[in-house]
Amino acid sequence: MAPSNNGLDLLFEVCFNKFMIHTILEDNSPILFQRSEEITTESAEEIEQLISDMFETLELGGVGLSAIQIGIKKRIFIISYMNEKMAFVNPVLVPAVGAQLVYGNEGCLSRPGIEVKMRRWDKVVITSQDKSKNPSQKTLKGFMARIAQHEYDHLNGKVIGLKGPLTKIE
Ligand SMILES: [Zn+2]
Repeated sequence: MAPSNNGLDLLFEVCFNKFMIHTILEDNSPILFQRSEEITTESAEEIEQLISDMFETLELGGVGLSAIQIGIKKRIFIISYMNEKMAFVNPVLVPAVGAQLVYGNEGCLSRPGIEVKMRRWDKVVITSQDKSKNPSQKTLKGFMARIAQHEYDHLNGKVIGLKGPLTKIE
């Protein structure tokens, strides 16, 4: 059932019907500060299973999730907001023409209970792939654009409000 063996042995997982709900890593996990790798050799079935598992995990609460947050260091993130569900494989995100930087508060499933004021583009263009590696392009605005930039940061090892792993204080 594992879509990838990348780090999965480190995780506690719950099997739920045919999906797996993964434990979301928190901000003291060093892997969160690493850059995720391109999806290359994975099959469409493996990518689809990973995306399904991520949506199932996100049902626990949240509007976006990156594979790295469940310990899988691959360039995939998903958005689930206002009845819209989207998955991005190997995304490249750039500000749209005429985009403005705007401030807004963000939370993160890997930083429960913390909000950070972040400056983000209000409109972005994302070039990515679907599970069969067909290219596609989407323009996202407003809060959707903010979610995408937050998740894209995760793929590059960035977590809101942090420069590196936290030292756990007992
Ligand atoms: Zn996050």
